[in-house]
This record gives sequence, C-alpha cells and structure tokens, in this order.
Amino acid sequence: MDDMSPSPHIMYDRLLGGLLIEGFDEKSCRSRYQFARYHKSPNIPSPYLIEKLRKQEALQKKCGPGTKAYREASKQLRSGQSINMTDCNYLLLTIHAGMGNRMLEITSVFLYALLTNRILLVDRYKEIGDLFCEPFPGTSWLVPSDFPLNYGEFTQSSPESYGNMLQNKVFGDNTERSLAGTRPRYVFLYLDGNCGFHDKLFYCEDDQQFLQGVPWLIIRTDMYFVPSLFLIPAFQDELSRLFPEKDTVFHHLARYLFHPTNNVWYSVTKYYRSYLAKAEKRVGIQIRIYETKGILQRNGPFPHILNQILSCAQNQKLLPEIAMTEGAAAETQNKGAAAETQNNRTIAVLTTSLSSWYSDQIQKKYDEHPAVDGTTVEVHQPSHEEYQRSRNKKHNMKALAEIYLLSMTDELITSGFSTFGYAAQGLAGLKPWIMFRSENHMVPDPPCGRAMSIEPCFHQAPFYDCKAKRDTDLGKVLPYVRHCEDVSWGLKIV
Ligand code: GDP
Repeated sequence: MDDMSPSPHIMYDRLLGGLLIEGFDEKSCRSRYQFARYHKSPNIPSPYLIEKLRKQEALQKKCGPGTKAYREASKQLRSGQSINMTDCNYLLLTIHAGMGNRMLEITSVFLYALLTNRILLVDRYKEIGDLFCEPFPGTSWLVPSDFPLNYGEFTQSSPESYGNMLQNKVFGDNTERSLAGTRPRYVFLYLDGNCGFHDKLFYCEDDQQFLQGVPWLIIRTDMYFVPSLFLIPAFQDELSRLFPEKDTVFHHLARYLFHPTNNVWYSVTKYYRSYLAKAEKRVGIQIRIYETKGILQRNGPFPHILNQILSCAQNQKLLPEIAMTEGAAAETQNKGAAAETQNNRTIAVLTTSLSSWYSDQIQKKYDEHPAVDGTTVEVHQPSHEEYQRSRNKKHNMKALAEIYLLSMTDELITSGFSTFGYAAQGLAGLKPWIMFRSENHMVPDPPCGRAMSIEPCFHQAPFYDCKAKRDTDLGKVLPYVRHCEDVSWGLKIV
C-alpha cells in the first residue's frame, strides 16, 4: 500500500464486491482500483448483476469497434438497406449536458443496454475520453470517428426520430406497429427533458417490443430515466434479479462505469489528502443556485441561501452551533477555548459552488464566532467557476473532480433539483439532506429534508399509463417508485 491511502490500516475491497475485474492496466487509470480506498459501501452487488456485467463485457468485446461484427453492422448501416437483427445490436448515446446529467444519462442508457442486450457506444466528441477511462476490458465504448450517420444533427423532428415517426404513423396504428415485419435500420430516440408525448411512448411495453427489432438505436437524453424502466412490465423480473435492493441502481452502475482519468483523479486525491483526510468528520455541501436576482439576472449572492445552508447544517447537527450575539460570542469564545482543550475535533467542510461567496461566509462565521462545543470548522472549496461552461474541457474536469470529492465526505447536504448532487450522493451511497428550493428569496421551512433513498430523481418522468391509454399518477403504482422529495412531479426509486 502506498502513501495515497487515507486509511492505511483499513482493508478495502478494490473490486467493489465483484463489480470490477482485475486485468486493466493500473497505471493508465489509477482511479479504477483506488476508488475503494476513499469509499465504503454498505451495499453489496447481487451475484446476478455481476454475472450480467461479465456477459455485457463479453458482448462489448465481441461486437465493439474494430471487430468484424462492428464493421459489418456499420457497413450495413451505411448501405441504406434493411438489416436483420444479429447477436450484435447497438445503442449509441449522444452527449450534450453538464457533468451530473451526463453521469445520470450514461447510467440510464447502460442499464437499458443491459436489459436489451445491446452494445453501448458513446459520443466521442464530448471529451468523454478525457474525463473517464474505458469501462469495458479489451474494447472501446467511444463510437469510431467514421461512424456512418451524422447523429449530431438529429433533432426531435427529424424523420429518423421515433416520436416523429409515431406521430406521422409511419408504421400505421399501434397494432400494426407491433406486428410490422420490417423495421427501420435505425431510429433516433429523443428523450431529453422537454420531449413530447410521442417520444415518451418509448417507455411503453409495445414500443419496447417494436424497438427490439431495430438493430441500431441512437439515443439523446439528459435524464435519469431508470425509474420509468421499472414501470415497464417486461423489464421488472430482470430488474429485481439485478437489483434485489432496488435503490442501488445508480450506486452500483456508476461505480462500475465511471473511473475518472488520471488527471482528474490526481487532483481529487491530492485535494482530499491536503484538506480533508485529517479531519474527524467531512461534511459536503453542494450549492447549486437556480434563482436569479434583479434585472441583470445575476444568480447571487443570496443571503437567504447562506441562512438556509447554515440552518440545515446546524439543525441536523452536521455542523456545530455558533454563538451569534456579541455577548454570547465572547462567552462562547471562553467556553470554546475551554472546550478546545478537551475537544480538538476538526470538521472539514467541502463546499462546491460556482460562487465562492457562500464558503467564505461560512468560514467567516466560524472564525468570528467559535463553535459552542469547541470544534474547529474548516471550509474548503476547490473552485469557483462563476458560470457553467459545459463545452470547456478543463471546466468539466473540475466539475467531475468535485463530484468525486463530494462523494468522499461522511455527510452530504445537496441542492434540490441538481443532478450534480445526485451523482455525488449515488457514488457515495449517502442519503443526503436536500435543501428545498426557496420561493420569493425566503428560507424554506424546513430548510432541508432527508432523502428517502440514494437514487437520483427522474425530473421529467412520463405520467402516461400505456395499457389504459390515459394519464395517471405513476408515483402511486409501485411501492418502490415514488415522487421525488425535491421535484414533486418527478419519480425516483426508493
Ligand atoms: P445540474 O445542472 O445542477 O443538474 O448539474 P450538471 O452537472 O448537469 O450541470 C451543471 C454544470 O455547471 C456542471 O457540470 C458544471 O459544469 C457547472 N457547475 C455547477 N455547479 C458546480 C460546482 O459546484 N462546481 C463546479 N466546478 N462546476 C459546477
């Protein structure tokens, strides 16, 4: 064991309960086998999931880029003739959103690939290769640059869009669609948050049956659509075998799929060792602000959000109370000094935010008014990028590093609605305290609430009952698919 380990005396399971296999070159991707040093997990992946992952790896290797099967499949795609299904059928994900969304969408699409025995390929143009190592042994998940279709130009209303085809009754009515003998060579599935009624028929069993016969699926989404897969009867048996603990889908699949590249990982581990490792407790606070202020539409700083963070952290005893009045401050300072001799505990707070104002203010409060129990509170924030720039590689690398750092904390406070926080809580296996959205610049009451599970929320889940052909409340159909704490119309697995 080298000096990278934060807890040299604790044994760790570098293969994450069998999710990972030995055999990858360790030097070219340190994070793969070092992740476990920084992360514990009470959740064990099922033997069935492990078996399925090994089968998927074999399929990715047999059919992936560079193989005869891939050459044949892409040649047929280029030829314009209809193609028969073979053992090698593909799912290509186009990528466009922020880092949290990307991790959620890749995980959803990977689960869909597992359920439908397809090879997962991802867009090579959105620097995925600079952010994550290859997840599958002996092959690449990046779609080759000579891929025959210009998928970047597909839109919701393109002729190849499935929703558009349904709307225009290209396959006739519903019954004709499920019986249709010939299938297109490929379809484009537009499943972004703003997709329409016909696009969302993807989540219906009949449509799944139809899509089973389409050799190439090109998918665009920025959503964690896993909860809706649990609502498709044909997938339910397989999903319960894969995930006997249903609320661990993202946790296991993200730990399996995502291994930050060395550049990102070095910055994560260096920061962890410098600022977080020595503290008795680490509290992560993820601050994502969607409100804007005044005519300039600036998003902050907002004193009510600072108050919300502090109330949440102190009410839930994640951070100690501070004395706020002058007299009390002096009194506490004395008490603090006395307590400090018995209590040399340090809490390291890791904040992440586009702005540095909140962490500066939190630190200032604990510097000016010592904690009542004498605990030292140190606040650290790796970056403050000011605004989102998801097309910038360095910016995305910082975002990814911070998601991983948040996932290395012992307790988490996250901002509701934010996929950045969902990704961190899922990797960590921690149920966060979610700060609810404030209205009219007021601190909500309560300021935060405990998440029901570690799963992300599907923000724009459909509410259509495919069998009954009418809208219904899909948050009430299964005990383990419920409405989210932070997005009342969304769905999550609990
Ligand atoms: P969401 O929009 O909150 O759901 O999360 P996403 O991660 O999908 O998109 C937000 C993007 O904004 C991130 O990927 C970053 O590019 C940037 N961003 C937001 N918050 C932070 C932060 O705390 N730290 C860093 N480095 N970037 C952030």
